[in-house]
Amino acid sequence: MPLKMKTNKLIRLIILLFLVVGCDPLPEQKNMDMESLLNGKPPKTIMAIFAHPDDETTIGPVLAKYASISDVHLVVATDGSFGVTNHAKIPAGDSLIAIRKIETECACRELGIKPPHFLEAKDGLGLNGHNNFYDEVTQLKKRLADKIIELQPDVILTFGPDGDTGHPDHRLIGLLTTEILLRESWFDKIDLYHFAWTKEQTTKFPKDWGLGWAHEKVLHTKIDFSAKDEQMAFASLQCHQSQFTKQEMTDWIQAEKNDTTNVLYFRKFVVDTIRRNGF
Ligand SMILES: [Zn+2]
Repeated sequence: MPLKMKTNKLIRLIILLFLVVGCDPLPEQKNMDMESLLNGKPPKTIMAIFAHPDDETTIGPVLAKYASISDVHLVVATDGSFGVTNHAKIPAGDSLIAIRKIETECACRELGIKPPHFLEAKDGLGLNGHNNFYDEVTQLKKRLADKIIELQPDVILTFGPDGDTGHPDHRLIGLLTTEILLRESWFDKIDLYHFAWTKEQTTKFPKDWGLGWAHEKVLHTKIDFSAKDEQMAFASLQCHQSQFTKQEMTDWIQAEKNDTTNVLYFRKFVVDTIRRNGF
């Protein structure tokens, strides 16, 4: 090879190296915040889908955290009309439904997320045989699917098979959400996450809450949150006065404060779409 050609090649190589190594990062990268650098782009829209008005308290700090970087929507499946408590003494029915709506709106404000969406299914629908179970669930599934289409979330958060406390409504709303995504094959657009405690995390709460858990190995998504996020969650918890006494709220808040790890875990529902002949 003539020397001139070799020199030209060398110059081209040096220019190429300069372009690759020495150039500025892409403008898009320059604007990325820490969240983006650590975990990829944050979701544009997050939908938290739960059974009762107050279930959002389970993951309050995570909702508060994402409120500043994403559109965060809370969807409440049932009307909460069976949430009768000894201290509030509000009978089951319309007045309790109205109060729990106001409490949930208050909770969303305190978390800094969008106003809640109520799907108004009858409370207790997970209890098989309650009222018109099959009609209720069919209607709820339709309303839930319509809400997902309306909000176009990138991420959905809901209960896993343990249903947090094992409440049948909790398990059911997680199942219905998962069923809809499987039915419609929306996994290319939506990441579905099931929330779960680790076994160790459940020990900070009273045993009679009956909390379920998943093994730490499968809880691959770890969301840490700040003291400010936690404070917002505490403020939102205190909106639910018809459900918790002052003492219960104080004890709950103290249990959370004692746990300084400030982290909640989720598991992404992953679907294998490669078709095989055999197991
Ligand atoms: Zn609940």
